[in-house]
Amino acid sequence: MPYPGHVAIAGGGVIGLACALVLRRRGLQVTMLEAGTAMKEASWAAGGMLAVEDPENPPALLPLSRYSRGLYEAFLQEIEVLSGKPVPLRTHETVQVLDGPRTGTAGIPLSREEARRIVPGLGEADHDYHLLEEASLDPRDLCAALPLAVRAAGVHLREHERVVSVEADGEEILLATECGRVRADAFVNCCGAWAGALDASAEVAPCKGQMLVVAQPEKPRLTRVLRSPKVYLIPRGLISQSDDRIVIGATIEDAGYSKQVEPAALAILRERAAALWPPALDAPYVESWAGLRPGSADGLPFIGRRTDSSAAQFLATGHLRNGILLAPGTAHAVADLVCGIAPAVDLAPFTPHRTSMPAACDNHFAAAL
Ligand SMILES: Cc1cc2nc3c(=O)[nH]c(=O)nc-3n(C[C@H](O)[C@H](O)[C@H](O)COP(=O)(O)OP(=O)(O)OC[C@H]3O[C@@H](n4cnc5c(N)ncnc54)[C@H](O)[C@@H]3O)c2cc1C
Repeated sequence: MPYPGHVAIAGGGVIGLACALVLRRRGLQVTMLEAGTAMKEASWAAGGMLAVEDPENPPALLPLSRYSRGLYEAFLQEIEVLSGKPVPLRTHETVQVLDGPRTGTAGIPLSREEARRIVPGLGEADHDYHLLEEASLDPRDLCAALPLAVRAAGVHLREHERVVSVEADGEEILLATECGRVRADAFVNCCGAWAGALDASAEVAPCKGQMLVVAQPEKPRLTRVLRSPKVYLIPRGLISQSDDRIVIGATIEDAGYSKQVEPAALAILRERAAALWPPALDAPYVESWAGLRPGSADGLPFIGRRTDSSAAQFLATGHLRNGILLAPGTAHAVADLVCGIAPAVDLAPFTPHRTSMPAACDNHFAAAL
């Protein structure tokens, strides 16, 4: 493929915008088409944990997770310089709770006493605890800054312009949008849970996650992320008074494209959070929401070039529970592929044309995040 001059991207979530930023930095002309408002779907709904070592992640995700985490500080710094808006890391450690010992769990094992010392108010139940060096950010900070940064970098971000079809015209790409046509040398489908509508090789399905937010109690205060396989609590960190809250998540549901919040689901989240950290039981309700993760059947993203098209068509979706973490790594890998450079991470597990096996969404709340 000749070096492309113009790349079109569909989908202005964290994955599409990160790809746009990196491609633009490499000197390409980038047109980004977003059906609604950028950063208002899954990327807005996320918890914001950069959970590289979460034992619930598929092992095949680890190299890409580490690669992406290694790029994160530079990614956030570039966004801040371009947008003038900071995206601070809100927490720096996670206490991972396990029901019993698991081989290969990352981090420093903690006794119950040690865990209770660093997490005042921790519940009495007997668990295994590991302290992870893991950060989190508030995705709402990214939502405010990333679209501005992308525009400042010179990306042509066109909101409220849905892509309705994608065709190869020889080696070129012809997009039909709600407002007209776009011709490009390469196309990247970053449409999250909706990616399958434009590309049958994107076997993604929406995976609903409901979130509950409560006020941070005066005492004891939660200052680290606390996460078990069933629930997580993310303190937002006191950057301003209105940030003094704890995000509790999340359900994992196969509910189609519904984003309805259900009181019963919120009650289960609160109950599970309180079993881990009892002060959550009476913490005042602040807000709740639901979002649609782009789920693949094997829990791994699709990142790669379509082999069934005469034109340069790429897919970057299916990031399920880790799209915030994986955005810079995915963006660099996609930019490498578009520019014909070998990516720094092995993308074989993420090939778009793989056959993937079990369901990512089990329609129950047993797994969390
Ligand atoms: C409750 C919850 C908690 C989560 N917690 C975390 C976490 O702690 N850490 C983490 O790393 N990840 C987390 N995630 C996952 C993360 O949010 C997603 O993996 C990530 O946001 C996916 O980004 P995306 O850009 O692929 O999708 P989205 O953000 O959904 O963006 C896709 C965009 O494509 C647009 N679009 C769709 N169709 C078209 C079309 N035809 N033309 C143009 N545009 C189109 C949509 O309007 C949308 O804006 C969580 C997700 C949820 C729901």
